[in-house]
Amino acid sequence: MSENKVPYTGKEKIRFNVPPFTGREYEYVRQAVENQKICGDGEFTKTVSRWFEERTGTAKCLLTPSCTHATELAALLADIRPGDEVIMPSFTFVSTANAFVLRGGVPVFVDIRPDTMNLDETLIEAAVTEKTRAIVPVHYAGVACEMDTILEIARRHGLLVIEDAAQGVMASYRGKALGSIGDYGCYSFHETKNYSMGEGGALLIRDPAKVERAEIIREKGTDRSKYFRGQVDKYRWQDFGSSYLPSELNVAYLWAQLEVAEQINRERLDRWDQYYRLLSPLARAGRIELPTVPEGCVHNAHMFYIKTADERERAALIAHLRANDILAVYHYVPLHSAPAGKKYGRFCGEDRYTTRESERLLRLPMYYGLTAEETELVADKVKEFYGA
Ligand SMILES: *Cc1c(COP(=O)(O)O)cnc(C)c1O
Repeated sequence: MSENKVPYTGKEKIRFNVPPFTGREYEYVRQAVENQKICGDGEFTKTVSRWFEERTGTAKCLLTPSCTHATELAALLADIRPGDEVIMPSFTFVSTANAFVLRGGVPVFVDIRPDTMNLDETLIEAAVTEKTRAIVPVHYAGVACEMDTILEIARRHGLLVIEDAAQGVMASYRGKALGSIGDYGCYSFHETKNYSMGEGGALLIRDPAKVERAEIIREKGTDRSKYFRGQVDKYRWQDFGSSYLPSELNVAYLWAQLEVAEQINRERLDRWDQYYRLLSPLARAGRIELPTVPEGCVHNAHMFYIKTADERERAALIAHLRANDILAVYHYVPLHSAPAGKKYGRFCGEDRYTTRESERLLRLPMYYGLTAEETELVADKVKEFYGA
């Protein structure tokens, strides 16, 4: 076993995802143990928070145990009350909706754009009612939503913008980091994301005036964060709250990747560009569709997906790849078609693309460490399926 590889015991020769690992994780986790500080908000957490604040230009980065928790924290800060409506896509992960449903909020699903699979910004305004409180754009595949339009609608109607940037670390929109554009931004460091600590996340806060309350809710409703900075002599129960701190052990693991974040990003983008180049002839022949990255968006190669003709063709392609020891997977079942989505939310307007496009989308293997040879093999097998 080489220094920087973890032994693999699974079945497929080419997996869909491999958790990021750079080799220094063991050293940093050991350091956290030796610091005798394994609870939250130790040295690694401070370093990582500062790293994100500097890179994103936000007032505060609060690390959380997951993006799910970061979104829940945002819903608490937004004071979502029963009956409040929150506009979001149906093509997303359950946590985008759950965070608001837990507060009694109502997810109002709006159709997506077929080119990016993101919220269609031209349909948002028609979904706004007097109960609407927030818009939650999800930057699918690390490709930004049309934020200028979304911010303008939010400003006109006095709505908050909470970015689900779970997949958007290191990606940007018109020069601004995803997650730093709205009022709040939520990152994920789950093992399937570009940078990971197993389970983890972060809440980015743009406005300095919103930081103090966020720190209190995150620290069990107390001003313990202020106490640790020496700003108060005792900490007390100030507000409602919960515990949204990740352990230093996990954050130490994440730091090993952030130190080489540029390299990880570049290597992922190389694989993404390679897929794009190799599969372009199939797209030009009209057999498949490739992802679109609109002007002004810099993506992070979080995923590489293609679109097949329909669901049946996708199933056959998955089987063909599987027969060749390659794992490719589809993605979200639209929330409005799921039992809880029907119970708690509603779709506004027509579902022209959400269902249809989600049934055609197939994600190819993509992770840090995927080799050029492996990428070529996957592309070859896709081409073979189409007889090209
Ligand atoms: C991964 C993901 C989440 C959830 O992240 P966790 O850290 O696992 O809670 C939420 N939204 C989107 C769009 C995601 O991709």
